[in-house]
Amino acid sequence: MGYKLLTPGPLTTTATVKQAMRVDHCTWDREYKTITQEIRQKLLDLAGVSEADYTTILMQGSGSFGVESVLSSMIGPKDHVLICVNGAYGRRMVSMCERYALLYTVYEVAEDEIPEAAAIAKILEEDPTITAIAMVHSETTSGILNELEGIAALANENGLLFIVDAMSSFGGIPIDVSALSIDFLVSSSNKCIQGVPGFSFILAKREQLEQRRDFARTVSLDLYDQYETMEKDGKWRFTSPTHTVLAFHQALQELEQEGGIYQRYMRYLTNNRLLRQKMEELGYRPFIKNHQGPFITSFLYPTKQANFTFNTFYQHLKQNGFVIYPGKISKVDCFRIGNIGDIYPEDIDRLVEVIEKYTEVAYVS
Ligand SMILES: *Cc1c(COP(=O)(O)O)cnc(C)c1O
Repeated sequence: MGYKLLTPGPLTTTATVKQAMRVDHCTWDREYKTITQEIRQKLLDLAGVSEADYTTILMQGSGSFGVESVLSSMIGPKDHVLICVNGAYGRRMVSMCERYALLYTVYEVAEDEIPEAAAIAKILEEDPTITAIAMVHSETTSGILNELEGIAALANENGLLFIVDAMSSFGGIPIDVSALSIDFLVSSSNKCIQGVPGFSFILAKREQLEQRRDFARTVSLDLYDQYETMEKDGKWRFTSPTHTVLAFHQALQELEQEGGIYQRYMRYLTNNRLLRQKMEELGYRPFIKNHQGPFITSFLYPTKQANFTFNTFYQHLKQNGFVIYPGKISKVDCFRIGNIGDIYPEDIDRLVEVIEKYTEVAYVS
Protein backbone atom coordinates (compact mmCIF):
# COMPACT_ATOMS: atom_id res chain seq x y z
CA MET A 1 0.00 0.00 0.00
CA GLY A 2 0.99 3.57 -0.67
CA TYR A 3 4.10 3.25 -2.81
CA LYS A 4 5.32 5.37 -5.70
CA LEU A 5 5.32 3.69 -9.06
CA LEU A 6 8.60 4.29 -10.85
CA THR A 7 7.33 2.55 -13.94
CA PRO A 8 6.44 4.03 -17.31
CA GLY A 9 2.71 3.51 -16.95
CA PRO A 10 0.61 2.86 -15.06
CA LEU A 11 2.46 5.48 -13.10
CA THR A 12 2.05 7.56 -9.97
CA THR A 13 -0.96 9.84 -10.41
CA THR A 14 -2.01 12.81 -8.30
CA ALA A 15 -4.70 12.54 -5.63
CA THR A 16 -6.87 14.87 -7.72
CA VAL A 17 -6.65 12.62 -10.79
CA LYS A 18 -7.71 9.66 -8.65
CA GLN A 19 -10.50 11.73 -7.11
CA ALA A 20 -11.91 12.60 -10.54
CA MET A 21 -12.88 8.94 -10.90
CA ARG A 22 -15.33 8.99 -8.00
CA VAL A 23 -18.27 9.72 -10.27
CA ASP A 24 -20.34 7.19 -12.19
CA HIS A 25 -21.07 8.68 -15.59
CA CYS A 26 -23.56 7.63 -18.19
CA THR A 27 -21.90 7.11 -21.59
CA TRP A 28 -24.42 8.97 -23.72
CA ASP A 29 -25.06 11.79 -21.31
CA ARG A 30 -24.34 15.18 -22.90
CA GLU A 31 -21.98 16.25 -20.17
CA TYR A 32 -19.88 13.13 -20.64
CA LYS A 33 -19.80 13.49 -24.41
CA THR A 34 -18.65 17.08 -23.97
CA ILE A 35 -15.77 15.84 -21.83
CA THR A 36 -14.75 13.47 -24.63
CA GLN A 37 -14.83 16.32 -27.14
CA GLU A 38 -12.78 18.55 -24.86
CA ILE A 39 -10.17 15.81 -24.52
CA ARG A 40 -10.00 15.39 -28.29
CA GLN A 41 -9.54 19.13 -28.80
CA LYS A 42 -6.97 19.48 -26.03
CA LEU A 43 -4.87 16.68 -27.51
CA LEU A 44 -4.84 18.50 -30.85
CA ASP A 45 -3.76 21.69 -29.06
CA LEU A 46 -0.98 19.83 -27.23
CA ALA A 47 0.24 18.42 -30.54
CA GLY A 48 0.10 21.89 -32.09
CA VAL A 49 -1.96 20.70 -35.05
CA SER A 50 -5.02 22.29 -36.63
CA GLU A 51 -8.45 20.76 -36.46
CA ALA A 52 -8.70 21.17 -40.22
CA ASP A 53 -5.80 18.79 -40.85
CA TYR A 54 -5.88 16.46 -37.86
CA THR A 55 -8.35 14.76 -35.56
CA THR A 56 -8.05 12.77 -32.33
CA ILE A 57 -9.66 9.36 -31.97
CA LEU A 58 -9.90 7.71 -28.56
CA MET A 59 -9.81 3.91 -28.57
CA GLN A 60 -10.72 1.55 -25.73
CA GLY A 61 -7.97 -0.71 -24.40
CA SER A 62 -4.30 -0.24 -23.56
CA GLY A 63 -1.75 1.40 -25.81
CA SER A 64 -1.21 -1.67 -27.96
CA PHE A 65 -4.88 -1.58 -28.97
CA GLY A 66 -4.28 1.87 -30.44
CA VAL A 67 -1.23 0.70 -32.39
CA GLU A 68 -3.09 -2.37 -33.58
CA SER A 69 -6.07 -0.25 -34.56
CA VAL A 70 -3.87 1.87 -36.84
CA LEU A 71 -2.00 -1.07 -38.39
CA SER A 72 -5.04 -3.30 -38.84
CA SER A 73 -7.41 -0.68 -40.19
CA MET A 74 -5.28 1.92 -41.97
CA ILE A 75 -2.84 -0.26 -43.90
CA GLY A 76 -4.30 -1.24 -47.25
CA PRO A 77 -3.79 -4.32 -49.41
CA LYS A 78 -1.37 -2.39 -51.65
CA ASP A 79 0.74 -1.06 -48.79
CA HIS A 80 4.19 -2.23 -47.78
CA VAL A 81 5.29 -1.15 -44.29
CA LEU A 82 8.89 -0.63 -43.24
CA ILE A 83 9.04 -1.24 -39.48
CA CYS A 84 11.98 0.18 -37.54
CA VAL A 85 12.90 -2.03 -34.60
CA ASN A 86 15.24 -1.52 -31.65
CA GLY A 87 13.21 -3.10 -28.87
CA ALA A 88 10.10 -4.99 -27.81
CA TYR A 89 7.58 -2.36 -28.90
CA GLY A 90 8.96 -2.25 -32.42
CA ARG A 91 8.81 -6.05 -32.43
CA ARG A 92 5.18 -5.86 -31.26
CA MET A 93 4.33 -3.91 -34.41
CA VAL A 94 6.03 -6.65 -36.41
CA SER A 95 3.83 -9.27 -34.66
CA MET A 96 0.74 -7.29 -35.54
CA CYS A 97 1.70 -6.97 -39.20
CA GLU A 98 2.49 -10.68 -39.23
CA ARG A 99 -0.89 -11.57 -37.67
CA TYR A 100 -2.84 -9.54 -40.26
CA ALA A 101 -0.65 -10.84 -43.07
CA LEU A 102 0.32 -7.31 -44.08
CA LEU A 103 3.24 -6.82 -46.40
CA TYR A 104 6.14 -5.57 -44.27
CA THR A 105 9.91 -5.30 -44.06
CA VAL A 106 11.85 -5.12 -40.80
CA TYR A 107 14.78 -2.78 -40.32
CA GLU A 108 16.32 -3.81 -37.01
CA VAL A 109 19.22 -2.35 -35.07
CA ALA A 110 20.63 -3.29 -31.64
CA GLU A 111 18.66 -2.28 -28.57
CA ASP A 112 21.23 0.35 -27.62
CA GLU A 113 21.27 1.91 -31.10
CA ILE A 114 18.76 4.06 -32.94
CA PRO A 115 17.34 3.54 -36.43
CA GLU A 116 19.32 5.68 -38.87
CA ALA A 117 17.76 7.73 -41.67
CA ALA A 118 20.72 6.97 -43.96
CA ALA A 119 20.14 3.22 -43.66
CA ILE A 120 16.43 3.71 -44.31
CA ALA A 121 17.18 5.82 -47.38
CA LYS A 122 19.15 2.89 -48.76
CA ILE A 123 16.33 0.42 -48.06
CA LEU A 124 13.87 2.74 -49.81
CA GLU A 125 16.14 3.04 -52.79
CA GLU A 126 16.46 -0.72 -53.09
CA ASP A 127 12.76 -1.35 -52.58
CA PRO A 128 10.46 1.20 -54.19
CA THR A 129 7.38 -0.81 -53.21
CA ILE A 130 7.54 0.50 -49.61
CA THR A 131 4.63 2.86 -48.92
CA ALA A 132 4.78 3.37 -45.17
CA ILE A 133 7.23 3.71 -42.27
CA ALA A 134 6.32 2.73 -38.71
CA MET A 135 8.55 3.47 -35.73
CA VAL A 136 8.63 3.85 -31.97
CA HIS A 137 9.70 7.21 -30.58
CA SER A 138 10.68 6.35 -27.01
CA GLU A 139 11.56 2.63 -26.88
CA THR A 140 10.43 1.81 -23.35
CA THR A 141 12.25 -1.52 -23.57
CA SER A 142 15.56 0.26 -22.94
CA GLY A 143 14.65 3.92 -22.44
CA ILE A 144 16.37 4.99 -25.67
CA LEU A 145 14.87 7.97 -27.51
CA ASN A 146 14.75 7.45 -31.26
CA GLU A 147 15.17 10.41 -33.60
CA LEU A 148 12.11 11.28 -35.63
CA GLU A 149 13.38 14.18 -37.77
CA GLY A 150 15.53 12.45 -40.36
CA ILE A 151 13.12 9.56 -40.83
CA ALA A 152 10.14 11.94 -41.00
CA ALA A 153 11.92 13.89 -43.74
CA LEU A 154 12.43 10.68 -45.73
CA ALA A 155 8.79 9.70 -45.32
CA ASN A 156 7.80 13.14 -46.49
CA GLU A 157 10.13 13.29 -49.51
CA ASN A 158 8.99 9.86 -50.66
CA GLY A 159 5.30 10.42 -49.98
CA LEU A 160 5.18 7.58 -47.45
CA LEU A 161 2.67 7.11 -44.68
CA PHE A 162 4.39 7.86 -41.35
CA ILE A 163 3.19 6.03 -38.22
CA VAL A 164 4.72 6.81 -34.82
CA ASP A 165 4.24 4.93 -31.57
CA ALA A 166 4.81 7.87 -29.21
CA MET A 167 3.28 5.99 -26.32
CA SER A 168 5.80 6.82 -23.63
CA SER A 169 6.84 10.22 -25.03
CA PHE A 170 3.78 12.21 -26.10
CA GLY A 171 3.02 14.87 -23.49
CA GLY A 172 6.44 14.47 -21.90
CA ILE A 173 8.59 16.00 -24.64
CA PRO A 174 7.75 18.48 -27.38
CA ILE A 175 6.89 16.69 -30.67
CA ASP A 176 6.15 18.86 -33.68
CA VAL A 177 3.54 16.55 -35.21
CA SER A 178 2.71 18.93 -38.02
CA ALA A 179 6.31 19.74 -39.05
CA LEU A 180 7.18 16.03 -38.90
CA SER A 181 4.07 15.38 -40.98
CA ILE A 182 3.14 12.37 -38.85
CA ASP A 183 0.06 10.67 -40.27
CA PHE A 184 -0.81 8.56 -37.23
CA LEU A 185 0.62 9.15 -33.77
CA VAL A 186 -0.42 6.76 -31.01
CA SER A 187 -0.23 7.27 -27.26
CA SER A 188 -2.26 6.22 -24.24
CA SER A 189 -4.02 7.48 -21.14
CA ASN A 190 -1.53 6.16 -18.60
CA LYS A 191 1.79 7.57 -19.74
CA CYS A 192 3.11 11.15 -19.89
CA ILE A 193 -0.32 12.80 -19.65
CA GLN A 194 -0.42 11.08 -16.23
CA GLY A 195 -3.87 9.55 -16.33
CA VAL A 196 -4.85 6.00 -15.44
CA PRO A 197 -4.97 3.00 -17.85
CA GLY A 198 -7.98 2.32 -20.04
CA PHE A 199 -7.68 3.84 -23.50
CA SER A 200 -5.28 4.89 -26.21
CA PHE A 201 -5.54 7.90 -28.45
CA ILE A 202 -4.58 8.41 -32.05
CA LEU A 203 -3.75 11.75 -33.64
CA ALA A 204 -4.62 11.20 -37.26
CA LYS A 205 -4.33 13.18 -40.45
CA ARG A 206 -7.90 13.50 -41.67
CA GLU A 207 -6.95 13.08 -45.30
CA GLN A 208 -5.33 9.70 -44.63
CA LEU A 209 -8.21 8.55 -42.44
CA GLU A 210 -10.69 9.27 -45.21
CA GLN A 211 -8.58 7.59 -47.88
CA ARG A 212 -8.14 4.49 -45.73
CA ARG A 213 -11.65 4.10 -44.41
CA ASP A 214 -12.29 0.71 -46.02
CA PHE A 215 -9.23 -1.22 -44.85
CA ALA A 216 -10.36 -2.41 -41.40
CA ARG A 217 -9.85 -6.11 -40.70
CA THR A 218 -11.73 -6.15 -37.38
CA VAL A 219 -14.85 -4.47 -36.06
CA SER A 220 -13.67 -3.40 -32.61
CA LEU A 221 -10.41 -1.84 -33.77
CA ASP A 222 -11.86 -0.10 -36.83
CA LEU A 223 -10.31 3.34 -36.48
CA TYR A 224 -12.46 4.97 -39.15
CA ASP A 225 -15.70 3.67 -37.67
CA GLN A 226 -14.64 4.86 -34.24
CA TYR A 227 -13.80 8.27 -35.72
CA GLU A 228 -17.07 8.57 -37.61
CA THR A 229 -19.14 7.89 -34.49
CA MET A 230 -17.03 10.05 -32.19
CA GLU A 231 -16.95 12.93 -34.65
CA LYS A 232 -20.75 13.33 -34.50
CA ASP A 233 -21.04 14.40 -30.87
CA GLY A 234 -18.32 12.77 -28.77
CA LYS A 235 -20.12 9.46 -28.27
CA TRP A 236 -17.78 6.46 -28.20
CA ARG A 237 -18.83 3.56 -30.44
CA PHE A 238 -18.91 0.93 -27.68
CA THR A 239 -18.80 1.19 -23.88
CA SER A 240 -16.03 3.56 -22.92
CA PRO A 241 -13.89 3.51 -19.77
CA THR A 242 -15.85 6.35 -18.16
CA HIS A 243 -13.83 6.67 -14.97
CA THR A 244 -10.58 6.64 -16.91
CA VAL A 245 -11.91 9.35 -19.22
CA LEU A 246 -12.75 11.58 -16.25
CA ALA A 247 -9.31 11.01 -14.77
CA PHE A 248 -7.68 11.83 -18.10
CA HIS A 249 -9.68 15.05 -18.43
CA GLN A 250 -8.39 16.09 -15.01
CA ALA A 251 -4.85 15.01 -15.91
CA LEU A 252 -4.94 17.26 -19.00
CA GLN A 253 -5.90 20.22 -16.81
CA GLU A 254 -3.02 19.43 -14.49
CA LEU A 255 -0.61 19.30 -17.43
CA GLU A 256 -1.81 22.79 -18.34
CA GLN A 257 -1.38 23.96 -14.73
CA GLU A 258 2.16 22.64 -14.74
CA GLY A 259 2.86 24.95 -17.67
CA GLY A 260 2.43 22.56 -20.59
CA ILE A 261 4.57 19.95 -22.28
CA TYR A 262 7.84 21.87 -22.15
CA GLN A 263 7.65 22.36 -18.40
CA ARG A 264 6.78 18.73 -17.86
CA TYR A 265 9.66 17.70 -20.10
CA MET A 266 12.00 19.82 -17.95
CA ARG A 267 10.78 18.10 -14.79
CA TYR A 268 11.25 14.63 -16.33
CA LEU A 269 14.68 15.60 -17.62
CA THR A 270 15.70 16.89 -14.19
CA ASN A 271 14.44 13.68 -12.54
CA ASN A 272 16.23 11.53 -15.08
CA ARG A 273 19.57 13.35 -14.90
CA LEU A 274 19.50 13.30 -11.12
CA LEU A 275 18.66 9.60 -11.10
CA ARG A 276 21.43 8.63 -13.50
CA GLN A 277 24.03 10.81 -11.79
CA LYS A 278 23.25 9.46 -8.31
CA MET A 279 23.03 5.87 -9.50
CA GLU A 280 26.41 6.18 -11.20
CA GLU A 281 27.80 7.45 -7.90
CA LEU A 282 26.56 4.23 -6.31
CA GLY A 283 28.19 2.23 -9.09
CA TYR A 284 25.11 1.37 -11.18
CA ARG A 285 25.77 1.69 -14.90
CA PRO A 286 23.11 2.57 -17.47
CA PHE A 287 22.57 0.24 -20.45
CA ILE A 288 22.09 3.11 -22.90
CA LYS A 289 25.22 5.11 -23.68
CA ASN A 290 23.87 7.41 -26.38
CA HIS A 291 20.34 8.76 -26.94
CA GLN A 292 19.11 8.02 -23.42
CA GLY A 293 15.56 9.41 -23.18
CA PRO A 294 14.21 11.37 -20.20
CA PHE A 295 11.48 8.85 -19.25
CA ILE A 296 12.92 5.53 -18.15
CA THR A 297 16.44 4.17 -17.60
CA SER A 298 17.74 0.61 -17.82
CA PHE A 299 20.50 -0.13 -15.33
CA LEU A 300 22.77 -3.16 -15.59
CA TYR A 301 22.80 -5.53 -12.63
CA PRO A 302 25.76 -4.50 -10.48
CA THR A 303 28.73 -6.79 -11.06
CA LYS A 304 30.43 -5.97 -7.77
CA GLN A 305 27.53 -7.20 -5.64
CA ALA A 306 27.68 -10.95 -5.90
CA ASN A 307 24.44 -11.40 -4.00
CA PHE A 308 22.36 -8.90 -6.01
CA THR A 309 19.07 -10.39 -7.14
CA PHE A 310 16.23 -8.50 -8.76
CA ASN A 311 13.79 -10.07 -6.34
CA THR A 312 15.52 -8.94 -3.12
CA PHE A 313 16.21 -5.54 -4.67
CA TYR A 314 12.57 -5.17 -5.69
CA GLN A 315 11.31 -6.25 -2.26
CA HIS A 316 13.71 -3.89 -0.48
CA LEU A 317 12.51 -0.97 -2.60
CA LYS A 318 8.86 -1.91 -2.23
CA GLN A 319 9.13 -2.12 1.55
CA ASN A 320 10.54 1.39 1.43
CA GLY A 321 7.83 2.84 -0.78
CA PHE A 322 8.99 2.42 -4.40
CA VAL A 323 8.07 -0.01 -7.14
CA ILE A 324 10.31 -0.45 -10.18
CA TYR A 325 10.26 -2.54 -13.36
CA PRO A 326 12.26 -5.62 -14.30
CA GLY A 327 14.48 -5.26 -17.34
CA LYS A 328 13.32 -6.03 -20.87
CA ILE A 329 16.62 -6.05 -22.76
CA SER A 330 17.11 -9.27 -24.70
CA LYS A 331 20.75 -10.02 -23.97
CA VAL A 332 21.75 -8.41 -20.66
CA ASP A 333 20.31 -8.40 -17.15
CA CYS A 334 18.88 -5.01 -16.30
CA PHE A 335 16.27 -3.40 -14.11
CA ARG A 336 14.39 -0.28 -15.13
CA ILE A 337 13.51 2.85 -13.21
CA GLY A 338 10.91 5.19 -14.65
CA ASN A 339 10.86 8.84 -13.62
CA ILE A 340 7.59 9.97 -15.18
CA GLY A 341 4.29 10.50 -13.40
CA ASP A 342 3.78 12.62 -10.30
CA ILE A 343 7.47 12.28 -9.41
CA TYR A 344 9.84 15.05 -8.35
CA PRO A 345 13.58 15.36 -7.63
CA GLU A 346 12.94 14.84 -3.90
CA ASP A 347 11.42 11.42 -4.72
CA ILE A 348 14.56 10.53 -6.67
CA ASP A 349 16.72 11.64 -3.73
CA ARG A 350 14.74 9.44 -1.38
CA LEU A 351 14.82 6.50 -3.81
CA VAL A 352 18.58 6.69 -4.11
CA GLU A 353 18.93 6.70 -0.32
CA VAL A 354 16.87 3.52 -0.21
CA ILE A 355 18.96 1.95 -2.98
CA GLU A 356 22.14 2.91 -1.14
CA LYS A 357 20.89 0.93 1.86
CA TYR A 358 20.36 -2.14 -0.30
CA THR A 359 23.89 -1.73 -1.64
CA GLU A 360 25.25 -1.73 1.92
CA VAL A 361 23.20 -4.74 2.92
CA ALA A 362 24.29 -6.61 -0.19
CA TYR A 363 27.93 -5.85 0.47
CA VAL A 364 28.06 -6.95 4.11
CA SER A 365 25.88 -10.04 4.01
C1 LIG B 1 3.42 1.32 -23.04
C2 LIG B 1 3.85 1.20 -24.44
C3 LIG B 1 3.02 0.60 -25.41
C4 LIG B 1 1.69 0.00 -25.09
O1 LIG B 1 1.74 -0.98 -24.15
P1 LIG B 1 0.40 -1.45 -23.46
O2 LIG B 1 0.90 -2.44 -22.46
O3 LIG B 1 -0.47 -2.01 -24.48
O4 LIG B 1 -0.18 -0.22 -22.83
C5 LIG B 1 3.44 0.61 -26.72
N1 LIG B 1 4.60 1.16 -27.08
C6 LIG B 1 5.42 1.75 -26.17
C7 LIG B 1 6.70 2.35 -26.66
C8 LIG B 1 5.08 1.77 -24.83
O5 LIG B 1 5.88 2.36 -23.95
